[in-house]
Amino acid sequence: MKRISLSSILIVFILSAPYISFAQQEKRWLKHHISLLTTPAMQGRGYVNKGHDRAAKYVLKYFKEYGLVPVNKDSTYLQTYSFAVNTFPDEVSLKLNKKQLVPGADFLVDAASNSFNNDKIKVTSIDLNKIKDTATWNKTKAAWHTESKAYFLKNTDSLCKHLSINERRFAKQLPKGCFFIRQHGKITWTVATDTIPATVFYVEDTVLPRRVKKAAVHVNALYLPAAKNKNANIIGCVPGEVSDSFIVFTAHYDHLGAMGKEAYFPGASDNASGTAMLLYLANYFAKNPQHYTMVFIAFSGEEAGLLGSDYFVNHPMIPLDHIRFLTNLDIMGDATDGITVVNATEYKKQFDLLQRINNSKDYLPQIKSRGKAANSDHYHFTEAGVPSFFIYTNGGRGFYHDVFDNAASLSMTNIDKVAKLLVAFAKELNVP
Ligand SMILES: [Zn+2]
Repeated sequence: MKRISLSSILIVFILSAPYISFAQQEKRWLKHHISLLTTPAMQGRGYVNKGHDRAAKYVLKYFKEYGLVPVNKDSTYLQTYSFAVNTFPDEVSLKLNKKQLVPGADFLVDAASNSFNNDKIKVTSIDLNKIKDTATWNKTKAAWHTESKAYFLKNTDSLCKHLSINERRFAKQLPKGCFFIRQHGKITWTVATDTIPATVFYVEDTVLPRRVKKAAVHVNALYLPAAKNKNANIIGCVPGEVSDSFIVFTAHYDHLGAMGKEAYFPGASDNASGTAMLLYLANYFAKNPQHYTMVFIAFSGEEAGLLGSDYFVNHPMIPLDHIRFLTNLDIMGDATDGITVVNATEYKKQFDLLQRINNSKDYLPQIKSRGKAANSDHYHFTEAGVPSFFIYTNGGRGFYHDVFDNAASLSMTNIDKVAKLLVAFAKELNVP
C-alpha cells in the first residue's frame, strides 16, 4: 500500500470542501421541503383535516415565489376536479384481550372499511383453510353471527388462492361486521374510493396475543362523495423561446392521509421527495429559461388511482402532442444504488442520453432500465402517446405506504447528483 502524507490529505480535503458543502446545500434545500411537506399539520397530504388542500397551497406558494407562470387563462395555476374517497377522521382504535394496539404500527383498517364500535365483543377464530370453493365460502359466511361476534380469520391467503382473488377483493366479500386478518411482515395502507360492508383489521402477527378472546373496537369511517372532495393539479411554466413546445416535469404531492386521530402517513419518500425535486427543478429553470417552454405539474389523487394525471390527460391544459418529453418523479429520497427509469425500453434515444450524461459526469452508480409500467403518473401520458419517463431512486430502508416513511428516515444519499442529472438531461432535451 502506498503511504499518503498528511499534507496531501489536507490538500485533498481543502480542495473537495467547497464541493461537499455545495452538495450538502442542495440536499438540505430538498430535505427542508420534504420536512415541511410531512409535518403533522399536512395530515399525510390526504383527505382528513384538509391535508391535501394544505399541501396544494404549499406547492402553489412556491410555484408563485419562484416566478412560474400559469398556463391556463384564468391565471390560477390550478386544475380542479373531484372524486369520492373513504376517510377516517375520528377515532380508530383496537384492543385485543387486554392489549391496546398502536394504530398504523400494529394494525391498519382496510381503507374501504365501514364504521364499527363495540367496547366488549367476543372474538371467534375461523380457519379458512378447509374452504376450497365459492359455494362453501358463501354458506360459511352466511352462518356467522356478525352482530354479536367479531371473527378472527385464519389462512385467508389459502382461501384467496382458491377463489383467485387478492386480499382487498376478499375484504369486499365479507358481510357487515368486524373481522381481523393476521398480516405476516409489513403492513401497507392505501386509499379507497369505495366502501365495503365490513370493518376489516389487518394485524401484525408479532403483536397478536396467542388466543384472541375479546376485543374493543372503534372505527368511524366517513365516506366523502365526489362533490365533497375537491382536488387540484397545480401547473406552472417557464416560457422558452419556443412557447408552444414543452419539456415537462411532474410529481404527485398527495399521499394516503390519516387513519384516525393518531396515525398519519407522512409519505416522505412517496412522494414529498419527488415534490421537493419538482420544486428544485422549477426554481432552477425559472432562473435559467430554456429554448422550449418548461412545464411543471404537481398532481393530486395519485394514491387514489392516478386520478389527477388521468384527469389532466383527458382535459389537457397544454396540447399533449406538443410535449416533447415528460419526466415523472416519484420516490426520490435515497439514490444509494442509483435510479430506475420506467419506459427506458420505449424511449431508447432519451435513455441513451441519460446514460451518456451520467457516465461522463460520474453522477450515479447505476441507471436501471425498465419497460412500461402502470405504476405512477407518467402512465396515462404514455398511453396517450406522450414520450415519457418515470424515474425513481433505488436505496433506503423500504418504508412504503406506512407510518414510518418520515423525513428522518431518508438518507438523501446521491440526491444532489440526481438533481444535477435531471437538470443536465432537461438542458440536452432543450437543444433544438
Ligand atoms: Zn407515489
